Amino acid sequence: MIPTSGYYHLANVRVHRSLTPGFIATFDTDGFALADIVVADGKISAITPHKKSKAPADAIDLAGRIILPCFVDCHTHIDKGHIWPRKPNPDGTFMGALNATGADRAARWSAEDVAKRMDFSLRSAYAHGTKALRTHLDSVPPQEEISWPVFESMRETWRGRIELQAACLLGIEGVRDKEWFERLAKRVAAAKGVLGVVTYMVPDLEELLDKVFSEAIKHGLDLDFHADETDDVAAISLKKIAEAALWNGFEGNILVGHCCSLARQPDLDVLDTLDKVAKAGLAVVSLPLCNLYLQDRRADQTTPRWRGVTLLHEMKARGIPVAVASDNTRDPFYAYGDLDMLEVYRMATRTLHFDHPVGDWPQTVATTPAKVMRLDGLGMLAAGGSADFIIFKGRSWTELLSRPESDRIVVRDGKAIDRQLPDYAELDELMVD
Ligand SMILES: [Zn+2]
Repeated sequence: MIPTSGYYHLANVRVHRSLTPGFIATFDTDGFALADIVVADGKISAITPHKKSKAPADAIDLAGRIILPCFVDCHTHIDKGHIWPRKPNPDGTFMGALNATGADRAARWSAEDVAKRMDFSLRSAYAHGTKALRTHLDSVPPQEEISWPVFESMRETWRGRIELQAACLLGIEGVRDKEWFERLAKRVAAAKGVLGVVTYMVPDLEELLDKVFSEAIKHGLDLDFHADETDDVAAISLKKIAEAALWNGFEGNILVGHCCSLARQPDLDVLDTLDKVAKAGLAVVSLPLCNLYLQDRRADQTTPRWRGVTLLHEMKARGIPVAVASDNTRDPFYAYGDLDMLEVYRMATRTLHFDHPVGDWPQTVATTPAKVMRLDGLGMLAAGGSADFIIFKGRSWTELLSRPESDRIVVRDGKAIDRQLPDYAELDELMVD
């Protein structure tokens, strides 16, 4: 359907106001307008309001199908992905996930094992329409010496298809070994990575956060935290991160993931935390699939009573940049998933009420994570930008979000890509003892 000639005219497509800056049109109450898009030499050369009379005779009429820019997935774990068959979570709890993953990492994560699973994950993400992806890399010794070189070569292999970023991942206690942590920060800087830790309420949290910030400042690194992935109301590390950012005068980008406990805290505490988060310029990413899976998991087989996600509406109302992302895929932290950001957005809509009105929530899987990752021009459709977009069957939100859209067309640099998903059987050899 999409010509390989490099020059064509897509007529009668539906674009969304929140993802087409600079496009002037009359948008309906769902934020959509009909448009014509001209593609030339891998770029979008024009987006204009749809006019049947103006379209050339050879224009491809898409009959109102929705076009979105390629996705940006700002929080994943492709070093962990797909280990489920050999290391399932025994009980579906967070501790079960942590212990199972730790054991698998120590026993099995050779460079070859990590590389094969990463490549599998990236092929899926690419086929679903993702253009940029940040992964965390478990960086507890000796894994940092194995996974970072694998990541660096994977980033080269995938350049031009998926923009890859990585953040180191370790529990905040790991920062107590100052010499080792300084070496890790240096290694992350050498790989042009992002400095990341998991925060929870240890007695010396403030001191350890200061060390994290000082290393980030020393090397000019952005920061990426996992914070408060728990229902414990006493978990307030999000607030501690905001305070540390303020008193350290940090100027880089900070992304904080999860923040689940915030949704369980009293309103006045929440307001105080959110004021600080806004003031400190933090961005927040919610991981609805993983949160639904791990949070409120009950040992007595009773039913979960809360959704596990954080307060994105309250954050957005304060101007805090908010995103949603995939997180884990087929590993002990989440038994399912395939790095399909349409699935993430569909689940986010249902879990977090990204609807009635939809407003600018679509930015959570596109423009906003692109900004956090410093990827200018990604996550939007604009004249002069690259022709990287997804053509769906759906013509409205209810059509788009009701089916998996397995037959979507992914266009990269103006050409439709092969969307064949990798076969699970490829991983079988990694799953035997
Ligand atoms: Zn995560």
